[in-house]
Amino acid sequence: MASPSLIPAHFIVFFVVSRLMSIIGNLRPSKNSLPCEIDSLGVHAKLRYDLDAIGLASTDYGNIVHEIPSAVLYPTSIDDIIELIKFSNECPLPFNVAARGHGHSVRGQAMAHDGVVVNMLSLKKHYKNGNGIRVSTSGNYADVGGEQLWIDVLNATLEHGLAPLSWTDYLYLTVGGTLSNAGFSGQTFLYGPQISNVLELDVITGKGDFMTCSKDQNSELFYAVLGGLGLFGIITRARIVLAKAPKRVKWVRMIYSDFSIFTRDQEHLISTKGLEYLEGSLLMDYTPANNWRSSFFSPSNESQIISLLKKHGILYCLDMVKYYDDETANSVDKDVQMLQEGLNFIPGFTFMRDETYVDFLNRVRRGEITLKSKGLWDVPNPWLNLLVPKSRILDFNAGVFVDIIHRQKKTTGPLLVFPLTKIVWDDKMSAVVPDEDIFYSVGLLHSGSFNDWQDLDNQNNEILEFCDRAGIKMKQYLPHYKSKEEWIKHFGPKWNTFQERKAQFDPRMILSPGQNIFNYV
Ligand code: FAD
Repeated sequence: MASPSLIPAHFIVFFVVSRLMSIIGNLRPSKNSLPCEIDSLGVHAKLRYDLDAIGLASTDYGNIVHEIPSAVLYPTSIDDIIELIKFSNECPLPFNVAARGHGHSVRGQAMAHDGVVVNMLSLKKHYKNGNGIRVSTSGNYADVGGEQLWIDVLNATLEHGLAPLSWTDYLYLTVGGTLSNAGFSGQTFLYGPQISNVLELDVITGKGDFMTCSKDQNSELFYAVLGGLGLFGIITRARIVLAKAPKRVKWVRMIYSDFSIFTRDQEHLISTKGLEYLEGSLLMDYTPANNWRSSFFSPSNESQIISLLKKHGILYCLDMVKYYDDETANSVDKDVQMLQEGLNFIPGFTFMRDETYVDFLNRVRRGEITLKSKGLWDVPNPWLNLLVPKSRILDFNAGVFVDIIHRQKKTTGPLLVFPLTKIVWDDKMSAVVPDEDIFYSVGLLHSGSFNDWQDLDNQNNEILEFCDRAGIKMKQYLPHYKSKEEWIKHFGPKWNTFQERKAQFDPRMILSPGQNIFNYV
C-alpha cells in the first residue's frame, strides 16, 4: 500500500476537492425531486442548493460513500425542522430527511440521496432558538442541544466544576450523533455508554411531532431513539447526567506480549474498584508505536518498544487511568501502584503520564490537528468496529489480529481492543450488543488513500467472513449492511420491536435513509 505520508498535503487537498466536485458535477442536485410547494414554506429561505452546502452534505469522515441530496436545510430554530418533516409527510411521495451532526460517520449514514439533509450545527449559531447548553441549578444534569459538540459540553460544564461521566475518545462529535449510536470509550465499563447517561430527550419524530420523552414519559420513543441510528426522530435536546469533574489524571500504559494474559488483566481491572478508564490497543512490528491518535511514548520509550516488537511481532498495550484532584493528589500514586499489583505486563514495560483531565479527554484532537496539517485527515477511512463476545476473543485474536491483520501487514491506523460490561447497557434501547456479560470493543481504525482503500475494505470483508465461518457471534458497532437480511440478523430478537417502533414514529420512512434499513419510501 502506498504510504499516504509520502504524498504532499496540498496535492491530497486538491485531489479530494476535485474528486468531490466531479462526483457532484456528475450528479447535480435536482431541486425538482422536491415538490415545488416547498417554495411556499417558511423554511424555504433556509434551504440551500449551492455546491458548498451540497458538497458538505454528501461527504463524511469515511470519504467512501457520496450521496447527493436535493437540498440542505440550515435551520435557525427547531420549528424549521418540524415544518420540513411535516411537509414531507403531507406529500403524496414523501422525501427523505437526514440529520447531519458533525458528519463523522464512515459510510454515508448522515446522507440523504435526493432528500434533504438537516445541517444540525446550524442550530449552534442560533442557540437562543435552539437549546444550547444549560447546567441545572442542582448540578445533577445539563440540558444540551442535539447539535452540540461534546467538547463544548465539556467546556460549559467545567465552568461549574462538573462534567458528564461517559465519553467517546474524540470530542468533536455531536450529542445527537453519538446518542444515535451509543457513544462509548474507556469509562464505559463503569458508567455505561453515553446512551445510559441520558435522563430525558426532546425529539422530533418522523411524523413531525415534537415530543419530550424519558423512562417514565413516552418511554417507547426514548428507548427507540437511544442507539436508534436516527431512524425514529431527530434529537433536539438531551438531559445528560453530570458529576463533579476531576482536575487531573494519571494515565498508565503497560505492554504485554501474550494476548490471553493481556485480556485477563483487562478483565481483572474492570472488576476492580478505583479505576475510571480502561482501554487497550495493538502494536505491530510494521507500524510506529505512536500513531496519529496517540503520541504517548517518548522517543526513548519508543525505541525500547521497537526492539521488543522485533522479537514478538505483535504487542498488546493496556491503558488505564486514575482520576485525581487536590484532595487525592497525595495518594494517587499509591492508588495506581495498588491497581498494578498482581498484573502480568512485561517487567519494566510500564509508562505513566500526568495530564489535566481536559487534555486527557481531548487527546485525539492533537492527532487530528497533526493529520490535518499534513492533509491526511480527509482521506478514505474504511473503519470496522466490532463488539466481540468474551468467550471468543482469543479465537478472534488468533484468526484476525494474528492471521489476517499482522500477516497481511496492510493496516496503518490504530487497532483498539478493550472489554465492556453488558450490565451497564439497557436492553430496551435500540443499541445492539452481544449476548454475554462481557464483550470486547474492537476498533480497526484504518486510513487509506483514494487508490487503495478498497484493499483495506477487502480485508474488512475477510474479517467478517472469518467471524461468520468461526461462528463468532459479534455485532457491528456503527453498523453498515447492504441487505435487509443482514439487518434482521444484526438486530436479532430486537428486530420486531425495531420495525414496530419505525411504524409508530416514522410510518412513511422518511428519516435517516443513509442507514439503508428502511429507505424504500
Ligand atoms: P453524524 O455522522 O453526523 O450522524 C450519525 C448518524 O446519526 C446519522 O444517521 C445521522 O442521521 C444521525 N444523527 C445525527 N444527529 C442526529 C440527531 N440530532 N438526532 C437524531 N439522529 C441524528 N464513537 C464512539 O462511540 N466512541 C468513540 O470513541 C468514537 N470515536 C470516534 C473518533 C473519530 C475520529 C470518529 C470519526 C468517530 C468516532 N466515533 C466514536 C463514532 C461516532 O460516535 C459516530 O460516527 C457518530 O455518529 C458521529 O457523530 P456525528 O455528530 O458526526 O454524527
